[in-house]
Amino acid sequence: METNEKTLLIDKRYNCPVCEQQIRAKAVKSNSARFVNTMPDLRPIYSNVNITKYDAVCCPNCGYAALTPNFNTLTLTQKKIIQDKIQANYKSHEETECDFYTTEMAISRMKMALLCTITKGAKDSEIGNVCLKISWLYQALADELPEDAPDTTSKKELYLKEADNAAMKAYEHLTTARMHEEYPMAGMNETTLDYILSYFAYKKGDYQIAMQFLSGVVSNRSTSPRLKDKALELKDLIAKAKEQAS
Ligand SMILES: [Zn+2]
Repeated sequence: METNEKTLLIDKRYNCPVCEQQIRAKAVKSNSARFVNTMPDLRPIYSNVNITKYDAVCCPNCGYAALTPNFNTLTLTQKKIIQDKIQANYKSHEETECDFYTTEMAISRMKMALLCTITKGAKDSEIGNVCLKISWLYQALADELPEDAPDTTSKKELYLKEADNAAMKAYEHLTTARMHEEYPMAGMNETTLDYILSYFAYKKGDYQIAMQFLSGVVSNRSTSPRLKDKALELKDLIAKAKEQAS
């Protein structure tokens, strides 16, 4: 994957809304990623690049970071908070020159985005979306482990635990967002959000709640065929888990 990844990327320029410096972040060229599938937690899988690695923009001058669509949408109050709480404590550095972001780099970028997103008092949907992407990145990191290394089992366990922790934080924030915010939120419409909440409830072992979220997804006429298939697969998983639990 890595040898070709460079050719799929472009350096995008941004004006940082906090320190007003011009910065760069790598982005996947449009139409260059080859879609394969989405996992049950909606983690997108592409055959030639992990697109989630390029979903955050980070300023190396002031430490401000956010998901790409949210990078420039700071209010003046939020700008001031980031200046006081992030920039004031941040050691600026040159942009790291690299051909592509490793998954480790992407995780630290996404964690910076999480810190800033929480600090600026963003909506729950935005915080939940960052947590979801951190969960996906840790799963990708676990997938990348060599099969035969002696510490693979322990590392995999650690990464998947981090992924689960982030997923449960996403669950918390997206549940709150569902009660207070308008669709689309975190880039999701109503049925997609209910599907992912159902999946998280299932992971947590709250099968009753998982079924409640899911029933709306299955019966809603606007649910896409692809999502409906995923919802039916999840329904089977929940039914099996319920059986085992009883
Ligand atoms: Zn900046």
